[in-house]
Amino acid sequence: MFHDDDTGGDETGRLAALHRYDLFGSPPEPDFDKMTALGAELFEAPICAIVLVAEDHLWLKSHHGTDLTILAKAKSFCSEAIGDSAPLLVADATTDPRFAHSELVQLAGIRAYAGAPLTTADGHRIGTFCVLDTITRQFTPQHAAMLTRMAGIVVDLFERRYGDRVSEILAPFAQGAHMALITTDGAGRVSFWNVGAEEMFGYSRAEMTGQDMARIVPPRFRGSHPDGFARVAAGAESNLAGRPLELMALRSDGSEFPIELFLTIWRGPLGVGFGAQIQDISERRSREEQLEYRANHDPLTGLLNRTAFKACVSAHLRKNASAAVIVFDLDGFKTVNDDLGHATGDALLQALALRTLAFTRDGEVVARLGGDEFALLLADGSELGAIRERAKTLLELINRPFAVNGYQLKLAGSVGIAIAPLQARDTEALLIRADLALFKAKNDGGSRYRIFDTGMEKQLAATRVFQDELRHAFAKQQFELHFQPQVSLADGRLVGAEALLRWRHPTLGLLFPKAFLSILETHALAFQTGGWVLDEACRTLAQWRLAGLSGIRMGVNLFAAQLHAGMLVETVETTLARHGLAPADLELEITETIALRQDRRELDPLRTLHTRGVGIAFDDFGTGFASLSALKTFPLSRLKIDRSFVQDVVSDAHSQAIIKGVATIGRNLGINVIAEGIETRAQAEALREAGCDAGQGFLYGRGVPADAFLARYLDNPRSYAPALDEAEA
Ligand code: C2E
Ligand code: CA
Ligand code: CA
Repeated sequence: MFHDDDTGGDETGRLAALHRYDLFGSPPEPDFDKMTALGAELFEAPICAIVLVAEDHLWLKSHHGTDLTILAKAKSFCSEAIGDSAPLLVADATTDPRFAHSELVQLAGIRAYAGAPLTTADGHRIGTFCVLDTITRQFTPQHAAMLTRMAGIVVDLFERRYGDRVSEILAPFAQGAHMALITTDGAGRVSFWNVGAEEMFGYSRAEMTGQDMARIVPPRFRGSHPDGFARVAAGAESNLAGRPLELMALRSDGSEFPIELFLTIWRGPLGVGFGAQIQDISERRSREEQLEYRANHDPLTGLLNRTAFKACVSAHLRKNASAAVIVFDLDGFKTVNDDLGHATGDALLQALALRTLAFTRDGEVVARLGGDEFALLLADGSELGAIRERAKTLLELINRPFAVNGYQLKLAGSVGIAIAPLQARDTEALLIRADLALFKAKNDGGSRYRIFDTGMEKQLAATRVFQDELRHAFAKQQFELHFQPQVSLADGRLVGAEALLRWRHPTLGLLFPKAFLSILETHALAFQTGGWVLDEACRTLAQWRLAGLSGIRMGVNLFAAQLHAGMLVETVETTLARHGLAPADLELEITETIALRQDRRELDPLRTLHTRGVGIAFDDFGTGFASLSALKTFPLSRLKIDRSFVQDVVSDAHSQAIIKGVATIGRNLGINVIAEGIETRAQAEALREAGCDAGQGFLYGRGVPADAFLARYLDNPRSYAPALDEAEA
């Protein structure tokens, strides 16, 4: 047919005409959206669109009634429609062999189509103005005429738009070609890959067709991908669709770059399909916007930062009285960072950010406040039940294992919630209260959510005062040491003492480590205090010697900070020298968890000290994950079997067997075994039978000040005697 020549015969000219308008990837424009809304109304059809037909795909400049933006060109209505100057009318696509197997019909359930070509002044048909319906339709000649007129208006708009653009110094019409358009099936396998995608990612269409979309996702984000696809395919709502997302993508050469992704999801009888429209925004980010972007976004996750989040909350509160702020973090994030490295920690945060993003709904804002703390703004604070549900879902979402950097990480989170106007009316107060609730959730053991209440404020104030007091406890010399006896199980002879830290609090009285150790350990103060404990314990032992109590060793607990600081060998040796003690007089206790968490190198100081004769005890043995084989590589002179095993050694055969096993292995490795927390004679007897060398516990004595200890043992190294047994029991 003659009129076909200008489209079919001159595809190059047609594409040039199309790209001249620089429409691809342009943001929505009200003029075009009004046209499609009008089209849908006039035709009483659910869908109306302005479709541009490019070399291998269709792109929807405006879409009413669907969030589709990209379609494959093959078997499409629109590519057929531009073959003729007259509109294409399809009453029932399922009976039309040209379209029956197209994506739109099979996936989106389209039955009827009417589309008029968009014909430029120079005669090129670059796309269509069309309506689609999910039921069969009989389109009339009047319909066809109307479509043609509307298509004419659309082209006029293009022309005007182009006119405007030309004056904008050399409109770069390459922009369209740089946009990657990708479609995948429900499992994330690529079904369509355009030229733009080839250029952007460095994979050809042939390479990518049928491949997992995850290939273009940086490995650290991949963990959260497959389940995301699967969930949406299984019918879950995706909140990623329909709005631009800024993410990182991966090229075939392994380099990463930032993209803006616009995701489309369509469902039909054959399942779910995904369409992605992707723009490389490296340049955009590298320009001015980068400055603004940086000011408002967290560089690691791409989420809003604290400043931007506050601005969002404020803006929301100006217009609405009601809102809820949810803050949350990971329980034990620090452990991941410390044990598995920062790279894994970062990847975990990125995966969490992605998951949270998928969890948010329209009108909600998610941000990373810093560290592992994230925040979510809910637009409505009036439905307490709904907020609780959101919090629960959030906790579940954090609970699902994270696959990052080759690790399967199973974590829990804590959530704090504050509600406006109920609990605060301004941003600052709302955030502080949400934080307080988070703090409370953590304090209550984590893995839970808490909604703010006024009691929390008082509690926090008290905690603050306490922390402050602790900071000054050292300077004010409020720390003291108590000493607990260690005895030989064979004959009851005193063999050593363990120094235990106490805080003589000005108003609360004598405090045990349980009340303050966890706070102390988070401060540099731990290092200072640890040094003092070591010195004070050695000084005490030297004094006892002078007074005539000899033949015993002093056990001193180490803080992790003392290992990290890297001066342990020097500190220990100068302290021993200062008090005239031999290395064998001292035994350093390190808990199993601290020992295992260290880099092997960080244990070198203990190795050195061990070879020089200082005793090294493995504290709380059995509570961590130390394998017995780890004992061989660890510099060790003593194992301290944890109290939890001792407690039921008499009643529980399992504990008995473990203790027996440990004692046997200890003997074979030349390591002494001491049992902690012995409270009854029966326990002592069972432990002796199991092969433990020594014991420590209330049966023999609690921790007491140095003078009391000395007075009791000076002339009587076996003073544990039955009398005490009766008194304690
Ligand atoms: P730990 O090293 O396992 O110390 C033994 C703890 O068990 C002491 O509690 C002791 O009083 C208690 N205990 C001893 N025998 C019995 C018993 O028969 N029954 C019961 N129920 N408990 C018994 P304390 O003094 O409260 O110390 C708690 C923890 O605080 C210590 O556990 C240790 O991990 C830490 N700690 C204490 N002093 C220091 C210190 O100077 N430096 C460091 N880094 N940590 C310390
Ligand atoms: Ca200890
Ligand atoms: Ca212990």
